[in-house]
Amino acid sequence: MANMDQNCCESLKDGNKFGPALPPPPPPPLPRPAATRTGCCPCKRLVEQSYVSRAAIELWDRLFDTGYKADVRINTGNGGILYAHYNIIAVASPVLRGLLKQGNVRRRWRTITISGVPHDAVRVFFRYLYTSCYEKEDMEEFVLHLLVLSHVFMVPQLKRECEQKLESSSLTLDNVVDVFQISLLCDAPRLSLICHRMILSNFKAVSESEGWKAMKESHPALEKEVLESMIEEENNKKERIRKINERKIYMQLYEAMEALVHICRDGCRTIGPCDKDFKANQQPCKYSACKGLELLVRHFAACKLRVPGGCSHCKRMWQLLELHSRICSDPDGCRVPLCSNFKQRMSKQSKKEEIRWKILVKKILRTRGIGIAPCFQQQ
Ligand SMILES: [Zn+2]
Ligand SMILES: [Zn+2]
Ligand SMILES: [Zn+2]
Repeated sequence: MANMDQNCCESLKDGNKFGPALPPPPPPPLPRPAATRTGCCPCKRLVEQSYVSRAAIELWDRLFDTGYKADVRINTGNGGILYAHYNIIAVASPVLRGLLKQGNVRRRWRTITISGVPHDAVRVFFRYLYTSCYEKEDMEEFVLHLLVLSHVFMVPQLKRECEQKLESSSLTLDNVVDVFQISLLCDAPRLSLICHRMILSNFKAVSESEGWKAMKESHPALEKEVLESMIEEENNKKERIRKINERKIYMQLYEAMEALVHICRDGCRTIGPCDKDFKANQQPCKYSACKGLELLVRHFAACKLRVPGGCSHCKRMWQLLELHSRICSDPDGCRVPLCSNFKQRMSKQSKKEEIRWKILVKKILRTRGIGIAPCFQQQ
């Protein structure tokens, strides 16, 4: 399951299956000083996560843990209390600075209450303001809370790290809807796009998750939006497939046109102009449509089925001949039968018919990426 989730996550980031391209990822973390990479440190967190020297982190860590001369009291959920230093957290977070400035500065304590987030998550957040680091396990456990706190209190570095963590390894089919909603609330466009893609490409499983059910209850408008985007994506997908198939048909028609000119001009295998000799062991033909067309031409010449407009094969041949004559730029020198006859017939066709043919010719040539077909000019 974990692997599958990770794979989904990877393919979503790589491919561009859904919607617009992802915004660029956040910049990579700053390089760590050599001092923090080596040596044995009693605290794993300091070595693993830090961008600054170990001694400095230990100092800031001690200051936070002891609350020495702290002047801010943070009330958290369930009656928890943390202590901090106004000067430090005010520098780390402009929002905290603004909130605490309004407190009564004559008293020793400025107070702030942060509810709705577990006490331990708030502790990890404030410790980060001192040390710029966190324990790996804490990040795993509180990544969503830390994303919200770093967004609300404007701590961009931590926010980036939370987004990166979620993008790279924490998204699952069970939590993707929650992460999606939080990423929208926290203005994390790249993350929300990744979640959105994951939801669309795993819709059946995601729609059975608890997160989806909760979103349906609490944010029916968002659910509607996701469902609409899914319908839109389905339609886009169908349209893409339709265009690919259409292009294939135009390419096949162009190849048939090339092969037709080639058969009538050079001859191929057993068929061709009467002034050509056929060698028993000639080179294999380079036109892939040649063989099918050879059979069609042979049928056309010998068909005894006298139905109005010809049998279905003959009708096809007539259409190919007409298409040729509409593309051909040299009817006088052309060796394809009836090439110039069709030119006269065209003038008698209805306007509607004429427009249909013109669109077809335009699309075939455009698919081939050319204005005029080189094989139809005099050689
Ligand atoms: Zn051929
Ligand atoms: Zn026929
Ligand atoms: Zn022609």
